[in-house]
Amino acid sequence: MKEYLKKLYTKDKNTYFKLLSNDLKNNHKRFIITVNPETLMLSENDKELKKILDGNYSFVPDGIAVVKAARKVGTNVAERITGIDIAEYLLKLANENKYSIYLFGAKAEVIEKLVNRIKVEYPNINILGYSNGYVKDRDKIMKDIIKKTPDICMVALGIPYQEKIIAKYFDKASKGIYIGVGGSFDVMSGTKKRAPKLFIKLNLEWLYRIIIEPSRLKRFWNSNVKFMFKIKR
Ligand code: UDP
Repeated sequence: MKEYLKKLYTKDKNTYFKLLSNDLKNNHKRFIITVNPETLMLSENDKELKKILDGNYSFVPDGIAVVKAARKVGTNVAERITGIDIAEYLLKLANENKYSIYLFGAKAEVIEKLVNRIKVEYPNINILGYSNGYVKDRDKIMKDIIKKTPDICMVALGIPYQEKIIAKYFDKASKGIYIGVGGSFDVMSGTKKRAPKLFIKLNLEWLYRIIIEPSRLKRFWNSNVKFMFKIKR
């Protein structure tokens, strides 16, 4: 686990955003993996996910527990860089530069709402395609994505499914920023609310998510709490 903490991006969010902007300008490929305690805990018993974490991708620290754990092992990570912050930034950038995107994941009504929001708020974005995440044949969607060569591809299927399906096809992509964004489409579409700014500032976003959705408690225990015990040990 230590080796994965050492691979995390260490500079601040704005510097990372500049990297993404340069990638898009120069048609450089990038697969962004937002690393949180759940990713790391799941990788202990999931060989396919472990192989992805062993890969040469762009790992960013999502989640305060990961930031703190990295610092403990001597990797001085500047701050959290969350999937939703990257996703919102990429939309802004795409609108400014007329980049193309493909969105895959979340419930049908969520993705429809998000696409409508993008059409209104970011009219210059070229939406090459989109699909909800409950289709039977996920590979068919990924093949369509690869064929259409979007500048940006966001996949919201949850950890580790989004990372696995991107990893399976990323080699075939000739360009593009690929990122798994978890529950971000739910928030970006306006279906769910993100934690109030104060919670985010105090690093208590996780607490807000549990209060709103108590069913997350078990997941939180199995990922974050066990992760913190492991790091302490
Ligand atoms: N999801 C999906 N297909 C599935 C299972 C989940 O598209 O078969 C979506 C789900 O609707 C949600 C996202 O994947 O939008 C996962 O969200 P979650 O809040 O669990 O992710 P987190 O941000 O906690 O990683």
